[in-house]
Amino acid sequence: MRLFDAHCHLQDPRIFTLAPQLIRSSLDSGIAHFAVNGVSEKDWHLVKQMSNSYPSVVPSFGVHPWFVLERTTEWYTILRQYFESTPSAAVGEIGIDKGSKGKLIDFDLQIDVFRKQLELAKELKRPASIHCVRAFGDLLEVMKSTGPFPEGVILHSYLGSAEMVPELARLGAYFSFSGFLMSMKLQKAKKMLKAVPSDRILLETDAPDGLPKSELSDLFLVEGDPSFPPELQALGENPHSRGCTEVSDVEKEKPELPKEMLNHPANIHNVLTYVASLLEMSKEEVAELSYSNAVRLFSYEGSKISEEVEAVKPIKLHVVLLT
Ligand SMILES: [Zn+2]
Repeated sequence: MRLFDAHCHLQDPRIFTLAPQLIRSSLDSGIAHFAVNGVSEKDWHLVKQMSNSYPSVVPSFGVHPWFVLERTTEWYTILRQYFESTPSAAVGEIGIDKGSKGKLIDFDLQIDVFRKQLELAKELKRPASIHCVRAFGDLLEVMKSTGPFPEGVILHSYLGSAEMVPELARLGAYFSFSGFLMSMKLQKAKKMLKAVPSDRILLETDAPDGLPKSELSDLFLVEGDPSFPPELQALGENPHSRGCTEVSDVEKEKPELPKEMLNHPANIHNVLTYVASLLEMSKEEVAELSYSNAVRLFSYEGSKISEEVEAVKPIKLHVVLLT
């Protein structure tokens, strides 16, 4: 079984020094690729460095809505330079947020920074990984005026309604599911998942956040590194947690942990089990489906994994021949 973590933050300062072990153990558990998303100018170099060191890491650069106030006047020029020097990069994490933390940041400014990055993704023909909290109406408006997105956009940790799925899908959205899905009411989650076209389903961990609500004994837990570089400490506050949600109180429902225990990308297996149960499909089917979707989405020109498209085809054929 192969899996693709379509959205995570292995460069996050809380786990950066542990990333080599996390990547190694995740590769051993069948996770072939990690889409690692930067969140501000301060961590793009770490994402790039990680991508240079690990063939399994797909880099993404973007300004997360919680960090728009920290951007420099040169941010857009610097961002473009990162894409020029990193042809394998996608866009992300970008987005808009009207949740408790997002409310502190001027929404028009968030929209402006988001729109610029979405337009850049379209210009560069790369997928973009989007965070949206309590702002789906605004998201749809921006996506309609800048889209459609033939290269795809990833609505990461999607917890929106089933009703919004068709319109978002028509514009090019993929729907990525993480441990946060376990905080959504079961029937609502089931209805929403079943509304998502099968060629648009992705799995992710959002590690080091997004710890699934599973029994602790079923999880890989990571103890955060308290000695991360001081200049990056401001980034170590769950900036990207909760992805695309309408719910504001998801964090309250986090399991009680003995100390700060963080999410490990290998917990994507718990997400897979949960998504497969809601879809009433086998884990193998959902794994293959979500993997093929992610490979297709991340196979833009210059991508590290573009050659893999061919590799996926015979495997699909093999499955067909067996059944
Ligand atoms: Zn994230």
